[in-house]
Amino acid sequence: MTKLEHGSSGDFPLIFERSQAGRRAAQPPKPAWESLEVLLGAEHLRAAPPKLPEVSELDLVRHYTGLAHRQFSIDGNFYPLGSCTMKYNPKVNEEAAKLFTDVHPYADPDAVQGALELLHNLQHDLAEITGMDAVTLQPAAGAHGELAGILMIRALHEHNGEGAQRRVVIVPDGAHGTNPATATMVGYDVKEVLTAPNGEVDLEAFKAALGPDVAAIMLTNPNTLGLFETNILEIARLAHEVGAQLYYDGANTNAIVGRARPGDMGFDVVHLNLHKTFTTPHGGGGPGTGPVGVKAHLREFLPAPLIKRDGSRFDYDYNLPHSIGRMRSFHGNFGNLVRAYTYIRALGREGLAQISERAVLNANYLRVKMREIGFETAFDRVNMHEFVAQPPKGMKTLDVAKALLDYGMHPMTMYFPLIVKEAMMVEPTETESLETMDAFVEVLADVLRRAEADPNFLAEAPYGTPVRRLDEVKAARKPVLRYADG
Ligand SMILES: *Cc1c(COP(=O)(O)O)cnc(C)c1O
Repeated sequence: MTKLEHGSSGDFPLIFERSQAGRRAAQPPKPAWESLEVLLGAEHLRAAPPKLPEVSELDLVRHYTGLAHRQFSIDGNFYPLGSCTMKYNPKVNEEAAKLFTDVHPYADPDAVQGALELLHNLQHDLAEITGMDAVTLQPAAGAHGELAGILMIRALHEHNGEGAQRRVVIVPDGAHGTNPATATMVGYDVKEVLTAPNGEVDLEAFKAALGPDVAAIMLTNPNTLGLFETNILEIARLAHEVGAQLYYDGANTNAIVGRARPGDMGFDVVHLNLHKTFTTPHGGGGPGTGPVGVKAHLREFLPAPLIKRDGSRFDYDYNLPHSIGRMRSFHGNFGNLVRAYTYIRALGREGLAQISERAVLNANYLRVKMREIGFETAFDRVNMHEFVAQPPKGMKTLDVAKALLDYGMHPMTMYFPLIVKEAMMVEPTETESLETMDAFVEVLADVLRRAEADPNFLAEAPYGTPVRRLDEVKAARKPVLRYADG
């Protein structure tokens, strides 16, 4: 048998390598039919049985339990991955989601009034939280929400007879990569505006970029440097003056939730990532949820259906004459909608405001503590829910991140935003304790001490992980995902 390449330490056999001929786990009863040939026809049967691993039930359980223990998760360890908001996912959310496992999306509305009421209330709560007039729950991720939002903006301009004229979407140079990608997917030309020395959108550059050809401006506030755009009201006024729509990338609203609303800042469209701010589990690619809120002038462009209330009855509302159509089958990631609703209801208005208070306090605490031990911060001012640091001169962010792995801590976001050299984007979130943050700072200090004592220490790290330095380009471009037998 061919072995896949493993790391040098902590080798963990594949299930195929545990296989012993003839060994079995559970034995299913003999099928009731006479033979598969009779049932399916010989031409549909495979020539040789599949090469499945042959293991006992205990081998099987140990294998997957062992793999499960190798997972890195927020339930196990500190995870300050900036922009991703890796906060604790309360377990009561899971209990609530379990209540709905019998609900079928094709059920008659009268049979699932509770589920529809929940969706209706969540639409309402998210509109209230963002300062918008209507919300769709369909999009399945932040990027998907952006796509829905920019499609609506395009449909609005087309409806107004300005579709051909408005060709440009403005994004700041620090924007999340999904913003220019979304604008491009919808067919727009992307115009970048630079960041001023104070870390905010350069207002003069922004004014110069504006014109009658601009369809939308996509902004994140606080921006990806963790800094609040203090000119936001002026930006909104200037944008609307030229007939453009202002889009709020609210993937990460941990800094403002319960305290400030994009709608009040002048934004026309906003998406939220329920899997970030509203504690639905994420990581490893899914499942996300990216509801989109709009001001009244865009309501009829929303994906259909919304959930409406007639007296005490809830039903689907397809009465959206300019709808961009469905963004997703059924009702989006329903289980996550239940989780987010549970979270919002458990916290209430005051609890939501405490999130942002604590998230911002924690991030500022960490910024100052990291400065004290020798890290730089890209902008020397009070930050919001996250901040961008840099390692001491001569050190590489990648090396520091690799060293963190040996301490059981997830590295911060690296090399983003692109406009800061050796960027380390740190977001502790509100759910981490003072002790955990202090432990993180102590680990960073230890990494710096060891790097000073031994010039090779950082270049060799990590030392104790199952695999060490990977060829990251090869791992992304040519991943080995299949077991090759023989
Ligand atoms: C996470 C994030 C996104 C993308 O969200 P996905 O759910 O991963 O598609 C967009 N913008 C910002 C600022 C983000 O942090």
